[in-house]
Amino acid sequence: MLSRLLLDRSGGHRLQVLRDAEMHRRSDVVSEAQRRHDQQVDLARLLCHARDHVPVFSRLLGADGSITPENAYEVLARLPVMDKKSIQKDPAGFVATYPMEKFSNSTGGSSGIPLNFKVDRERRIAGDASHYWANGLAGWTYGDRVAMLWGADRDVKDVSQTVRSKLRAWVDNVRWCNAFDMGPERMDGFHRQMKSFRPHIMIAYAGSAFTFARHLESRGIIPDYPLKGIITSAEVLTAEMRTCIERVFPVRVFDRYGSREFGPLAAECEAHEGLHLNEGDAVVEIESADPLNVPGRLIVTYLRNFAMPFIRYDTGDMACFLRDDVCSCGRTTRRFQRVVGRMSDTIRTASGSLVHGEYFTHIFYGVSGVEEFQFVQEEINRYRLLLVGDRGRAGQYEAEWREAIAHAVGQDAEVTIEYVDRIPALSSGKRRFTLSLLEG
Ligand SMILES: [Zn+2]
Repeated sequence: MLSRLLLDRSGGHRLQVLRDAEMHRRSDVVSEAQRRHDQQVDLARLLCHARDHVPVFSRLLGADGSITPENAYEVLARLPVMDKKSIQKDPAGFVATYPMEKFSNSTGGSSGIPLNFKVDRERRIAGDASHYWANGLAGWTYGDRVAMLWGADRDVKDVSQTVRSKLRAWVDNVRWCNAFDMGPERMDGFHRQMKSFRPHIMIAYAGSAFTFARHLESRGIIPDYPLKGIITSAEVLTAEMRTCIERVFPVRVFDRYGSREFGPLAAECEAHEGLHLNEGDAVVEIESADPLNVPGRLIVTYLRNFAMPFIRYDTGDMACFLRDDVCSCGRTTRRFQRVVGRMSDTIRTASGSLVHGEYFTHIFYGVSGVEEFQFVQEEINRYRLLLVGDRGRAGQYEAEWREAIAHAVGQDAEVTIEYVDRIPALSSGKRRFTLSLLEG
C-alpha cells in the first residue's frame, strides 16, 4: 500500500480517487430520494458553472434566471441536445473561459466521429474512481492483478515506454496485451503470460475477449484464469460472445458501458441482471416513448467535468432501461437492460493477424478536419478509408494514416482514401466504423 501511495501523482490523486470510489460504493445503496437530491445539487452546480463560464451555455441559459437544485432538472430539460458535430463546429464555445487547469483528451468516437475535448483535474479523479467502482462490481478489490486485453495504443505506449509507467503498471499489478495485434502466436504468448500472472480480473474489448476465447478453444486449452471475472467493454457484447467466453473461461462475464468522454457509465454486478448506472457522475436520459422496451437515443449529462461540460450530450448509442425495481444485489441505482451501440468488425489481414476495429478509431485521435470516418476491407488486401470532412485540413494527416494502416494490415496492402459527403448507414440504422466485406 505504501509503495502505491509513494507513486501517487501530485496533489494526492490516488487518495482522492480511493475516497471518491468509496463514495460511489456508498451511494449505490442509498434511497432513490437521497440519490435524486444529491444529483440535483451536482446538476445545479454544473449548470450554474456552464451558464457563467461556457459561451454556448451562457447564450442558452443566460435568460433563465436562477438555477437551484429544486429546478435543475427542469432547466436541463429545456436545453437542446448537443452532439459531437455541434462541438466540432464550435469547439471553443464549449470550453470554460474560467481560468482553470485544462487537459486535452480525444476520442476516435464510438460511431466513427472523432472528437477533441478538454478535461479538468476533477474529471481525472472521477474517471479513475469510476473505473475502481465499475471493476468493484465485478469483484475487483484494490491490489488485485488485472490483465488488459486492450488496444489503447497511446496507453499501451505509455505503459511500455516510460519507466514511471512501467513501474506503475508493475505496482498496480496490471499487465497489457495489445488487442490491436492478435495473431495466433501472439495469443499463445498472451496465454502463457496469463498462466503465470494469474490475473484476478481480465478487462477486454468484447470482441477481443471473444477472439481470444475462440482461439483457446480451437487449441483445446482450458484456461484456469482469471480468478474473479472478465470485464468486457467498448462495444456491444452479443449473447453469442458471452456464451462462448463463459464456456472457455472459468468465470462470468461482467459487461460494461462507458466512453472516453465519461469513463464507465454503467456496469454489470454479480447478479448479471442489467448494468447499474453510475448516477453519481451522470444524469442519464433515454429518448424513447417506451424506454423500458424500445431503445432510444442515450443522452448523458456528465456532472464531473467543468473544463468542458457535456450537457445533454448525444452519445451516438441507444439504450433501454431495465424495469424499475431494486437489483437482487441490493444496489438501488437504475439499470440499463442493454445498450445498442458501437459495432466494429475485426479485420483479418492477408498475413492472418487479427486487428480489432478500435485500432482504426485510434488513428483519428487528436486530428482536426475529420467529421466522420469508416474503414472498409473490400478484399483480403484491399481497403478503403472513407472520410467526411475538410480535405484541406485533413489532408496533412494522410501520410500518417497510411503508415498506421500499413503497420496493422501489411505494407503491401492497397489502401485508398476517399472523401465523401456522408457515410452510408447499415440497414439497422447503426453505423460500423470498420466494416469487413469478407465472408466469415
Ligand atoms: Zn445488481
